[in-house]
Amino acid sequence: MQQPLLVSMLLRHAERHHGEQEIVSRRVEGDVHRCTYRELAQRSRRLAAALAARGVGFGDRVATLAWNGYRHMELYYAVSGSGAVLHTLNPRLHPDQVVWIADHAEDQVLFFDLSFLPLVEAIASRVKTIKAFVAMTDRAHMPALSTVPGLLCYEELVEAQADDFAWPAFDEDSASSLCYTSGTTGNPKGALYSHRSTLLHSYAAALPDSLNCSARDVILPVVPMFHVNAWGLPYVACMVGAKLVFPGPWLDGRSLHDLFESEGVTMSAGVPTVWQGLLAHVEANGLGFSTMRRTVIGGSACPTTMMRTFQDRFGVQVLHAWGMTEMSPVGTVCTLKANQLRLDAEQRIAVQAKQGRAVFGVDMKIVDDEGHELPHDGKAAGELLVRGPWIIANYFKGEGGDPLVCNDGQGWFPTGDVSTIDGDGFMQITDRSKDVIKSGGEWIGSIDLENIAMAHPAVAMAACIAASHPKWDERPLLVVVKKPGAKLTREELLAFFDGKIARWWTPDDVVFVDAIPLGATGKMQKNRLRETFRDHRLPTA
Ligand code: ADP
Repeated sequence: MQQPLLVSMLLRHAERHHGEQEIVSRRVEGDVHRCTYRELAQRSRRLAAALAARGVGFGDRVATLAWNGYRHMELYYAVSGSGAVLHTLNPRLHPDQVVWIADHAEDQVLFFDLSFLPLVEAIASRVKTIKAFVAMTDRAHMPALSTVPGLLCYEELVEAQADDFAWPAFDEDSASSLCYTSGTTGNPKGALYSHRSTLLHSYAAALPDSLNCSARDVILPVVPMFHVNAWGLPYVACMVGAKLVFPGPWLDGRSLHDLFESEGVTMSAGVPTVWQGLLAHVEANGLGFSTMRRTVIGGSACPTTMMRTFQDRFGVQVLHAWGMTEMSPVGTVCTLKANQLRLDAEQRIAVQAKQGRAVFGVDMKIVDDEGHELPHDGKAAGELLVRGPWIIANYFKGEGGDPLVCNDGQGWFPTGDVSTIDGDGFMQITDRSKDVIKSGGEWIGSIDLENIAMAHPAVAMAACIAASHPKWDERPLLVVVKKPGAKLTREELLAFFDGKIARWWTPDDVVFVDAIPLGATGKMQKNRLRETFRDHRLPTA
């Protein structure tokens, strides 16, 4: 049968075939909320009717500033299912960036969790296209006083509608969701996902050698729903009928562990920084995991010590995974092949340290500086190129031009990661060619930090590079050349960043040098700086 692949199919399936399956959410309001897929589907239809009643049309962007929770999940399905585009804004960004991104996306409505009221108040009068602001709560919890114009109440919108909305059918290549990445230089860029790409990605992500999800699983996505759709898990869960557990804003070790145990969580997913907090809590209190079977770790390289602790001490399998916002995001997952099961523990960890094998649908190759393909021998390292039906061809509105490289008659997306690929197909990231810093799974734009530093009257030249940090993986280190005769201290320069960026973007350290190495074209040679400061010990470490 000819049938378009639509996001609404996932919800319809979950409602009809897993209607009693549970969705448990720790709410911003402070309590634990429970509902079923059947209720989720009904409320999503009513929410879709409410969107239509407010004039949200096909292709319109509807933004969210929200934690992982059932209302956010309802928005995932109500917005995309009705043909509008779900735009998950990242609340960790500076308000100026949120305004820029909301304007660029031309968001029409903004739904937000109460935790983000101060942020919404800061941007409400500045955003150009948002016509309605909706607080994701009930009447009893609505803020008494708010400067947000015409603030609406989520539960009232849902309650006002009947449950008779029918999910429309349309072209599967229509847009379903939008996510911006500041992972490259210049303005943030939008990755627009289609219904087709989202469904194909969900099939591939759920496979046994991928994230291995089933109806027997209880999945707790720690990775935020504003990070590449929580790596696709809200879609995969409906596809396989898994129980879902949402942690809301409580991502500390104790809160997560309590939820893992009380809800019988079998699998989870998140960046290494989150698991550090969890493991510290579990180890310090002599606890364990009674139901957890495996956890997906990605976004940054998973340290082998973390793998050992999870696997050897707690019997939790680590699935090391790699991907990008531009890839929906799953690209590779590290699961062993049959011949590797015979390897000893050390050899197995060496395999698991790699980012893994391409999931079906993702093709990848590595190339040298001239674009020649390099062998898959586990030694040759080159820029990693990818292609596939859930990998972007260009950014939203053509921002940044045509990103694809084409050297064999086919378009390949350059990941900005440098890697090897071994004979068994296992890819391992060895370096990064893109000029960014990744702290606890979130990007920090080095160029923005350099521009601010250069604006200081005592600074002649500034370069910002990633320095390694035991908790955050990477933190910004500023390397500065002062103007002749100028006086400037580390503290004075760091204070200069106040208010200009999100606080957590502030560099962890400043080193003053006589000169920054420049290449033939006058560009700062950051790879040489990274080499020089490889062992730099940050005062925050
Ligand atoms: P994600 O949500 O997967 O972190 P982003 O688009 O924010 O998506 O970041 C993608 C980039 O993060 C990759 O290009 C790579 O540089 C880095 N990355 C992701 N996963 C890993 C990993 N397992 N090991 C090393 N780097 C990773």
